[in-house]
Amino acid sequence: MVDSEQIKPPRSSARQLFGPVGDLLGSAAFETLAVHAGQHPDSATGAVVPPIYAVSTYAQDSVANPRAGYVYSRQGNPTRTALENCLASLEGGLMGLAFASGMAAEDAVFRTICRPGDHVIIPDDVYGGTFRLLDKVLTRWGISYTPVPIWDTGAVAASVTGATRLIWCETPTNPLLGVADIRALANIAHDSECLLVVDNTFASPYLQQPIKFGADVVVHSTTKYLGGHSDTVGGALVAKDEELGQSIKFHQNSMGAIPSPFDAWLTLRGIKTLAVRMERQCATAATITTFLQNHPLVSRVYYPGLLTHQGHETARRQMRSFGGIVSFAVHGGESVAIRVCNAARLFTLAESLGAVESLISHPLRMTHASTADSVVAPPADLIRISVGLESPDDLIADLSRALQGTTP
Ligand SMILES: *Cc1c(COP(=O)(O)O)cnc(C)c1O
Repeated sequence: MVDSEQIKPPRSSARQLFGPVGDLLGSAAFETLAVHAGQHPDSATGAVVPPIYAVSTYAQDSVANPRAGYVYSRQGNPTRTALENCLASLEGGLMGLAFASGMAAEDAVFRTICRPGDHVIIPDDVYGGTFRLLDKVLTRWGISYTPVPIWDTGAVAASVTGATRLIWCETPTNPLLGVADIRALANIAHDSECLLVVDNTFASPYLQQPIKFGADVVVHSTTKYLGGHSDTVGGALVAKDEELGQSIKFHQNSMGAIPSPFDAWLTLRGIKTLAVRMERQCATAATITTFLQNHPLVSRVYYPGLLTHQGHETARRQMRSFGGIVSFAVHGGESVAIRVCNAARLFTLAESLGAVESLISHPLRMTHASTADSVVAPPADLIRISVGLESPDDLIADLSRALQGTTP
């Protein structure tokens, strides 16, 4: 294969990117962008949805003269381009890049931005996979990290050293739903010549657009809300500026962790309904939060919509609503938490989140097993639910049964 680094994808106007609606999209609302950004009827057939370009290579008109900028599908594929442009537009960044998984996207961020000797700051309840990537893989490449309560801006500022290259933020965090002030973190990062990266998986761009508040890069596991149907694994990055975006793109092509055209298409399909799904999921999560707060077996509920939640005010400022994930602790410790998870029926006992079906999990034994015995391990009595699109009454009935330890 001819190495195609010199050949840049074509620079497109809004009209080329978005077709006839391109001129309208500058001022379009989120829901409109989710359906149209990056997509236009196929020029050859009029197909209203971008086709799945199941292809590895592209005919060239003459040597090193590709017809439409595409040379080889690791470097670029039209279905993936549609997804990448849609994501960039939803996050308000200049460049979107799609990856094979959220972890592939994270790996690309760390290895694009950091060099051996660099230091990063991470939340002390960071996603387990992010912790594993840093603790078990990247430390071997000379990158060090400090876990801090990411909502505590004083603690974050105090942890910055001369070697700190980036601040990694998740908000709300997983699984404790801590809320970090993105603008404050961006200021700390930029005062110290660091970059702020925000893992926006839990909120999705519908609820929160970190670039607006100063983030340099947004990370997604598109496996979750963006895809939304538990049918594909994927990841994405959106860069605030073109230069950083190009340098991550160089790594994406060099490292090769790209999604297949079919996975890109499924994710794009999921995104079209993100806004309506999120609205319903947030509303049901709020209803379930009230139910849990009043349940005698529940000792504590974590949900940013609660007035008593540590980050409620910040969440109000930077999020459109409070999300579809609720965590709660139960009286009786780990064994009771595990019993409740095992007893749920309508809530499927499974890892992951953000899809149309409701899921329940025990973070310490499941998603965060790799953090057990470390400082970032979640509490043993904690249960996390991801609220789907089922009826709120049916979901509450299921939780109620599971909390009583009875099965239907
Ligand atoms: C799932 C998840 C990831 C990892 O994404 P994958 O698609 O599973 O590789 C990263 N961050 C958060 C917050 C997640 O929930």
